[in-house]
Amino acid sequence: MKTADLSTELERIEGLRVRTDVPLGRLTTFKIGGPAAVLVTPESVDALRDARRLLSGAEVPVTILGNGSNLLVSDAGFDGVVIRIGSSLGGVEVAAPDRLRIGAGTLWSKVLRFVMKEGWTGLEFGAGIPGTLGGAIATNAGTRGGATADRLIDVVGVDAGGEIQTLPVADLGFRYRRCDLPAGFVVTGTLFSAERDDPARVEATVRGYQAERRRDQPEREPSAGCIFQNPPGESAGKLIDLAGLKGETEGGAIVSPIHGNFIINRGGATAADVLKLIERVCERVLAEHGVELELEVRKVGFD
Ligand SMILES: Cc1cc2nc3c(=O)[nH]c(=O)nc-3n(C[C@H](O)[C@H](O)[C@H](O)COP(=O)(O)OP(=O)(O)OC[C@H]3O[C@@H](n4cnc5c(N)ncnc54)[C@H](O)[C@@H]3O)c2cc1C
Repeated sequence: MKTADLSTELERIEGLRVRTDVPLGRLTTFKIGGPAAVLVTPESVDALRDARRLLSGAEVPVTILGNGSNLLVSDAGFDGVVIRIGSSLGGVEVAAPDRLRIGAGTLWSKVLRFVMKEGWTGLEFGAGIPGTLGGAIATNAGTRGGATADRLIDVVGVDAGGEIQTLPVADLGFRYRRCDLPAGFVVTGTLFSAERDDPARVEATVRGYQAERRRDQPEREPSAGCIFQNPPGESAGKLIDLAGLKGETEGGAIVSPIHGNFIINRGGATAADVLKLIERVCERVLAEHGVELELEVRKVGFD
């Protein structure tokens, strides 16, 4: 089906916002990338389910977007349908005395405001991660304080055929920054274990993590966070630093002088600039340390 016909069909679904030719750069923290042919934002799980059913019959590439904080989008953009999970599918609620239910479109910053105010412990490790909970599931987002899978009980979402499913954590093959969500599965909700605690103690832990990150990472500049996964027992940032690559540039992209594992868009960087810089970093780290770096950031819209 042509994208014009497809978007007309999608527009008939109640509770689905549909836009065409949408620049993706501004929907990512890197601020890089061309347009999506179609971008849909479901305002309810039912709208998402209906969209997924329609898309399962159309031969068109589909990708899922949260807060775009772990993505490098190609300069050509994405010639297909982007499903964006935002705050309409967000929110934090108490599901049981030791359970929090959190919508996939909820940002970590909102989760942390909730646990600090209400006094819940277990999720403080998310302090400073700029993504949504849906993105955190897909990437098993984590910090030195813990990772998303540690406290996860199950996720609910819509599969590629448009069926609503609940998947227990044990079925999801969580590992370092990865998991085995079924292809095309869109997470809409998450259930975590957590305990009641003194709000002041929770806040002190969160503020401590935030202060550490402000000191060690270029948080305020456009980036996608860590570009490479840490090789087993090593720090990618340290290997990059030791190879003398901090401050290395390509077009508008620069290896952060603050943290070697961050590439910064210092203004007008293209995805091609970033890819060239990634290639150079990989070659030099391999030559200097004999270590092959693997991408942590996910590529969208590349062949
Ligand atoms: C300054 C900075 C600091 C960062 N620090 C950390 C850190 O400390 N630890 C860490 O782990 N990461 C970190 N990141 C990376 C990023 O924030 C995480 O990977 C985050 O979990 C991505 O969430 P997102 O909503 O932005 O997902 P996106 O970047 O939009 O998407 C990431 C992946 O998740 C998939 N996805 C998104 N939403 C859903 C959904 N609802 N259902 C199914 N799949 C979905 C996408 O298809 C894509 O494959 C950092 C990034 C930045 C810019």
